[in-house]
Amino acid sequence: MGPIVRIQPRSADLGDGMLVRRTLPNRQQRMIGAWCFLDHAGPVRFEPGKGMHVGAHPHIALQTFTWLIEGEVLHRDSLGNEQVIRPGQVNLMTAGFGIAHTEDSLRDGERLHAAQLWIALPPDRKDIAPAFDHYPELPQWREGGAALTLLAGRYAQRTAPARIHSPLVGIDIVCDDPSTLTLELEPGFEYGLMPLVGEVTLDEETLRTDELAYLGTGRRQLLLSLAAGTRVLLLGGEPFDEAVLMWWNFVGFSKADIAQAQADWERGDARFGTIGDGKAQRLVAPPLPWHDQR
Ligand code: MN
Repeated sequence: MGPIVRIQPRSADLGDGMLVRRTLPNRQQRMIGAWCFLDHAGPVRFEPGKGMHVGAHPHIALQTFTWLIEGEVLHRDSLGNEQVIRPGQVNLMTAGFGIAHTEDSLRDGERLHAAQLWIALPPDRKDIAPAFDHYPELPQWREGGAALTLLAGRYAQRTAPARIHSPLVGIDIVCDDPSTLTLELEPGFEYGLMPLVGEVTLDEETLRTDELAYLGTGRRQLLLSLAAGTRVLLLGGEPFDEAVLMWWNFVGFSKADIAQAQADWERGDARFGTIGDGKAQRLVAPPLPWHDQR
């Protein structure tokens, strides 16, 4: 069990001027277990006529994991799913061999607060059939004055419904009044903790909003002190064995995996299907970051 590593967010544009804070991947820490990507959107109230509108884009070899805190977002994908996600719910899209989707505020001019994470699929499952699951109800309980929601994995006799492929956990912790609680950890898991709102103190260090603390492995317990009105995200998982490559919306285990996906998306290959009537704006992949493309 080592000291806490503090990781600062950077700003990223999802397109259409929608800014989010991204903490994973990061130079200091690429992943936490199989969690390989963490974007934090909002809390924000959009101007009239504005909202989140992320055009059609592909994914491979990962699961997108959306945790909605405020607002309503419409997900549409190339399997024909159309699902509105509301506060307290999770959407899990398994890209596997390939899928495309869009994400839009249901109505413009309203509030949005969400975390979107990606989970890398293990190498032997990277090409599984794509799927989409919506989880309207999750295990919830109270501890030390805070309300906890199990987003993914298992915690103390509870199991979240999300269909995942690696040992991992995700917990949302929120309080109105200052709260102190002790969480039981799996010593074989590495963990990360990030306030989505407010401040949390652990090991005599205080994390501000959007500061991710990487906690490593070997911990059995975690004592947290949340300031009033704080919301914290705890992520954990068994350290991921394989080196993961990430580029744009693709995860892969070789440059060839990613170059192939990029070429397939550019030429409109059936691999990524069609969303609805096919008229959704398609996002364009940036050039690959290396020269030997195969
Ligand atoms: Mn996406």
